[in-house]
Amino acid sequence: MQFHLNGFRPGDPDIKPAAAGSGSTKDHLPDKVDVLIIGCGPAGLTLAAYLAGFPDITTRIVERKPGPMEKGQADGVSCRSMEMFTAFGIAEKVKREAYWVNETTFWNPDPGSPDKIHRTGRVQDVEEGLSEMPHVILNQARIHDRYLEVMRNAPSRLEPNYSRQFVALTTSDNEYPVSVTLQRTGPAHEGHRQTVHARYVVGCDGARSAVRGAIGRELKGDRANQAWGVMDILVVTDFPDIRLKSLIKSTDAGNIILIPREGGHLVRVYIELDALTKGQQITPKDITVDHLIAAAQRVFNPYSIDVKQVAWWSVYEVGHAITDKFDNVSAESVGSQVPCVFIAGDACHTHSAKAGQGMNVSMGDAFNLGWKLVSVLQGRSAPDLLHSYSAERQKVAQDLIDFDHEWSRIIGARASGEEEQTDTPKFQRYFIEHGRFTAGLSVKYTESTLTGTATWQLLATGFEIGTRFHSAPVICLADAKPIQLGHTVTADASWRLFAFSGSGDNGCGDNSKIAQLCRFLGEDANSPRLRYTPDGAEPDSIIDVIAIFQQPHQDLDYSAMPALLKPKKGRLRLTDYEKIYSADHRQGDIFDMRGINREQGCMVIVRPDQHIAHVLPLDGFEALAMFCNGIFKATT
Ligand code: FAD
Repeated sequence: MQFHLNGFRPGDPDIKPAAAGSGSTKDHLPDKVDVLIIGCGPAGLTLAAYLAGFPDITTRIVERKPGPMEKGQADGVSCRSMEMFTAFGIAEKVKREAYWVNETTFWNPDPGSPDKIHRTGRVQDVEEGLSEMPHVILNQARIHDRYLEVMRNAPSRLEPNYSRQFVALTTSDNEYPVSVTLQRTGPAHEGHRQTVHARYVVGCDGARSAVRGAIGRELKGDRANQAWGVMDILVVTDFPDIRLKSLIKSTDAGNIILIPREGGHLVRVYIELDALTKGQQITPKDITVDHLIAAAQRVFNPYSIDVKQVAWWSVYEVGHAITDKFDNVSAESVGSQVPCVFIAGDACHTHSAKAGQGMNVSMGDAFNLGWKLVSVLQGRSAPDLLHSYSAERQKVAQDLIDFDHEWSRIIGARASGEEEQTDTPKFQRYFIEHGRFTAGLSVKYTESTLTGTATWQLLATGFEIGTRFHSAPVICLADAKPIQLGHTVTADASWRLFAFSGSGDNGCGDNSKIAQLCRFLGEDANSPRLRYTPDGAEPDSIIDVIAIFQQPHQDLDYSAMPALLKPKKGRLRLTDYEKIYSADHRQGDIFDMRGINREQGCMVIVRPDQHIAHVLPLDGFEALAMFCNGIFKATT
C-alpha cells in the first residue's frame, strides 16, 4: 500500500486524511445529496464504501434499523468477492477471521443400513488455480463491519444515517431529479419526515424493496419449495466432518447443508423444511428451533449432535425471482432518458441460500455501479454510461437464477438407490462441474462500449475479454516485492492499461514497443491519457499504465525506463515506484500462466470493476484511442 504521498503522516495509514469540511455524517442528513443509498445490507455498504473514497461526491446511506447488524443472514463469501475485497483493502482481515472452505464432503444413506448416513465423497472445494483467493465463510455482519470501517476511514468519513425509513420517491427534470421521503423510526424522532433531493438514488433495500415498488418494478419468479430452516450453533458431536462443508442426504429424514463457521467452533446447519413439516402437523410459521435441532439429529444418525448454544436461527423463505430492469428507465426509453434511480442486490433478484450467492451477487452489483456513478458525477463519462449497469447485471442475475434452479432441484432431490450405485452421486458431480459458477467466476460481460471485440484475444488467451482479470504473481522492479498483479486494481474508479512486453523488450531504446507505447500515451495528440485526464488531476487517475516485462527483475534497469512509468504525484511530486513489474519466475510466470504471446506482448485494458475490457496489440494506438473515445468524455 502507498501513503505519505502528500507529506509524512504518522499513525494508521488505513485512516485516510479527512477531506476539507468532512466530519462524521451519522447525525446530519442534508436536504441535497449526489447519491442517496437506501439500505445497509451488503449491496448498500459496498456502494457506500466505494463512493466514500470520493469526498467531492456527497453520498449518504440510510437504514431503517437503529444500528449495524450483529448476526444472522448470509455467510458465504465467494473467491470472486474476496478478489473484490482486495480493491477495498479488506481481504486480508476477512481471510484471517473467516473459515476457509478448502474441501467439501458428500454424505448419503448407507446402502447396508439406509437409516444411517455414510460419507460417499470428498472433493477439493475450489479447483486449483481458479483464483488466488480462497472461498470463505464469515457472518454477513462482520462483512458489514469491514465496509463500515472503510467508510469511516475514507476521506469523506461517511457513516450511515440509521433509523430512517424510505417511504416514497418522485422524479422530475431538476438538477436533483429524485425527491425522497424518509421517515424516522427511532424513539427520539419517531414519525418525523424529511425530504432529501438527490441526483441519484440506489435502492439496496432487500427482497421487499420499497424503492423497487416506487419505480414500478416487480420481482417475478417462483416461491415454490424454497423454505429452509437455518441455525448457527455450538455443538458437541462425533460427526467426523463437523469442520468440513458437507452436503448430507438421508433416506427419509431430509437433507442438510452443514457449513463450518469462523472461530473454530460455530457451525451453520441448513435443514430442508419439508423434512421439518412432514408428518409433524406444523406449518413453517410454527417451527421452533427445537424442531430444527430434532430434525438435524434425525439426519445425522448414527452420529450424535448435542447443541450447547443457538447463536441465531431462522426459517428462511425465498424464491428465485428477478425484475425485468434494474433502473427506472423502461426498455423503450433507453435512447431518450438516463436513469436516476437504481435497484441493487436482493431488491432486484433473489436466490435460494443453497448456492450461497445472495450476498455475493449483491456486492457484485454495487461494485459494477460504484465506478459508473463516480465517472458520471465527476464528468469523466457521459451519463448514458449508467444504462450499462442494468444491461450487465440483469444478465448476471438471470444466469445465477437458472443455475440456482437446477442446483436447488438436485440438492433437494431424495437420495435414490440408483444414485448410490454410481461412483459419484449426481449432486457431487454437479458441484464439481459448476465450481467456477459458485466461485463467482463465470460472469462475462458481453461486447459493448465497455467491452471490446475479441479480434486480438489470441494475444492473451488467459485474459478472456469480459471476464474478471485473473490475477497472477509479479515482482515490482523498484523494490523486488512479489505481489499479485490483480491487486493493483483498487476501488478508485481508474482504468488500468497493463502493457505486457514482447520478446527482448527491456523498456529502453527506439525498438522497445513499451517505450513507443509510453511515448504515444505521453505525447501524442490522440493519446486517451492526455485527452481525458483533467488538468491538475494525478496522471494515473483516469488511465493507470502499468508495464510487465518477461525478464527477471534483476536484468532490468529502473532508471532507463520511460518517464510515463515513473509518474510524479502528490503535493511533493514524489515518484510512484509501483508501475513496473517483472514476471515472477519462482511463483509462476504470468506470461505462461495467462497465455500471453511472448513474441509480440500485448495491452490488456481492465475496467475499474476488475473485468477485462479489451486485449490489443502493443502498437494498437488507434484502436486504443477509439475504444477510449467511446467511454470517456473530453475534459476541455
Ligand atoms: P439486505 O441484506 O436484505 O439488506 C437490505 C437492507 O435494507 C436491510 O438492512 C434493511 O433493514 C434495509 N431496508 C429495507 N427496507 C428499507 C426501507 N424502506 N428504508 C430503509 N432501509 C430499508 N442468505 C443466505 O445465503 N443464507 C441465509 O441463511 C440467509 N438468511 C437470510 C435471512 C434473512 C432474514 C434475510 C432478510 C436474508 C437472508 N439471506 C440469507 C439473504 C442474504 O442475506 C441476502 O441475499 C443479502 O443480504 C442481500 O443483500 P442486500 O444488500 O441486497 O439486501
